[in-house]
Amino acid sequence: MAEVLFPKMAVVGCGLIGASVILAARAAGVVGEIAVADASETARERIAALGLADHLTADVAEAVESADLVVLAVPVMAMGEAARAAAPALKPGATLTDTGSVKGSVAEALAEAAPPGVFVVPGHPIAGTEQSGPDAGFAELFHNRWVILTPQKRDDDPYLEAVQRLADFWKALGASVDRMDAAHHDLVLAVTSHLPHLIAYNIVGTAADLEEVTRAEVMKYSAGGFRDFTRIAASDPTMWRDVFLTNRDAVLEILGRFTEDLQALSRAIRWGEGDKLFELFTRTREIRRGIVAAGQESPEPNFGRDHRRPDKTA
Ligand code: NAP
Repeated sequence: MAEVLFPKMAVVGCGLIGASVILAARAAGVVGEIAVADASETARERIAALGLADHLTADVAEAVESADLVVLAVPVMAMGEAARAAAPALKPGATLTDTGSVKGSVAEALAEAAPPGVFVVPGHPIAGTEQSGPDAGFAELFHNRWVILTPQKRDDDPYLEAVQRLADFWKALGASVDRMDAAHHDLVLAVTSHLPHLIAYNIVGTAADLEEVTRAEVMKYSAGGFRDFTRIAASDPTMWRDVFLTNRDAVLEILGRFTEDLQALSRAIRWGEGDKLFELFTRTREIRRGIVAAGQESPEPNFGRDHRRPDKTA
């Protein structure tokens, strides 16, 4: 059995990610007692039925009391509120982290709320599915996935040790860990996750609005590419609304570049510039092969994919 890194872990917000953290940490044997706070009564009923918590409450302060590790896994725009609710009960020496998909605004909110003596180490597991709620959680979600930590600019030993301990925690859950600046994280994720989601939401919306193609035809012929977009476009509306509102600048920057490139593609199609299209499609195929080679996707197409496989990042 692995070393217990945190005798008590508190998880605030126990949906897909919170539940997966609990199941994975328990399976790895790296935490002792587990306390959970969740605002949703329905979620609390399921958390109790699934046996995810040793102590379950709606009260954030009650859950985090005497915890060595506090993981906030609520939607991005609820992080500040959750951190403020936790703050008075956080014990000195505790590590306060989160799983939010945006890091700049969340890192700021956590730093503002945390009392001195608490180590704030924001984080983001690049792993997920389009499901939400505690029933969607599973212990293998973080296997072979990246977790990005965005530590504060501090170099005192106790803080560095806290960052290392949190990195060891995620590694024990099966993930690899990278560290980067919060603003850089937000730009990288705008390209790799936020823009693809925006495109998926938009393309599915466009297809739904087309009058000359019936809804039945869209369903029937969806294997032509559309189906994979619908899976991404089924992602949680609250979570994604929060992502776009809190990572506005990076998303708009990348969206601007994307729009320019799309215009160029549109010109190439209009003027019959097949070589331009061929050159782009060849380059993009190489990128896909690189992703498969990096172990971040299976080589086979998405057909028949089990939703419990960690195949979507956020
Ligand atoms: P989720 O399944 O919707 O679960 C969030 C839970 O937190 C819900 O039960 C929610 O209750 C509860 N909650 C909301 N505000 C709260 C508060 N102030 N105090 C206590 N509980 C509160 O969400 P998720 O998909 O696990 O995502 C959690 C976080 O991880 C988000 O920040 C997201 O950006 C990030 N993330 C998600 C994914 C993904 O693929 N889903 C991947 C990586 C990171 P209500 O339903 O009543 O609001």
